[in-house]
Amino acid sequence: MSDSVRRIEFRNCQIGGSELVVMAGPCAIESRAQIFQAAEAVAASGVRFLRGGAFKVRTSPTAFQGLGWDGWALLREAADAHGLLTVSEILDEEQIERGRRYVDLAQIGSRNMQNIPLLKALGRSRMPVMLKRGFGCTIDEWIHAAEYILHEGNPDVMLCERGIRTFETATRFTLDVAAVPIAKQRLGLPVIIDPSHAAGKRDWVTSLTLAGVACGADGLLIETHPDPKVALSDGPQAVVLAEFGALVDQARRVAEALGRSIAVGAPARVAATA
Ligand code: PEP
Ligand code: MN
Repeated sequence: MSDSVRRIEFRNCQIGGSELVVMAGPCAIESRAQIFQAAEAVAASGVRFLRGGAFKVRTSPTAFQGLGWDGWALLREAADAHGLLTVSEILDEEQIERGRRYVDLAQIGSRNMQNIPLLKALGRSRMPVMLKRGFGCTIDEWIHAAEYILHEGNPDVMLCERGIRTFETATRFTLDVAAVPIAKQRLGLPVIIDPSHAAGKRDWVTSLTLAGVACGADGLLIETHPDPKVALSDGPQAVVLAEFGALVDQARRVAEALGRSIAVGAPARVAATA
């Protein structure tokens, strides 16, 4: 299965081969201490990407909106200190141009999956992109959204299944694991699983991670926080850093049972060319 997808290579990192890539960190960058603690712990687990949002798209305008540019500077600093790459959500064209020194992999959030001007701008930018599935969108609509980026000339696109809205309320969203093999077959691009936003509660994150790996995911995007009780966003679904290593170990065992592995060790970051 893994052989059938395009390998995306940037900054000394490969996504879409036999190795799965793990991206982890807090939902939002909240402070220097928080992001440095997260970076240290995820690097110790062999993870390659540090995640963290600086421009948050929150359901309520009164919820924490992120630290903005200062947040991205902290993300870069913490990642560089531990040899990690960064993934963070980008909201508009200005953020693509000014943000590329801070963000190695541009995340398009679920609420922006059909923001066509943003998709086209990322297509022109040639920045590696991870396109999250809109929680109310079909696999077909998701694939067409990815095609907007591809058609502008950017081949470095991967998809991310993060759960869709169904009648079920026990979880925050319903993780559509079938989307992994379907999207891989239809588009030939790597698919990442985000078990955190689907679960909405840390108790279910490990199980959904393992299901995603079993279904052929090429990577994992997982929210972790040094102290989820005081997290400013998505605390209930954040895996405690102390438990994160065990989650990665279990994912590795499932990957190995399927003849795959989990990429270990932070790659040396090659300076951005643009
Ligand atoms: C996130 O990754 O923190 C996020 C906001 O995700 P989504 O766009 O999938 O809701
Ligand atoms: Mn989040």
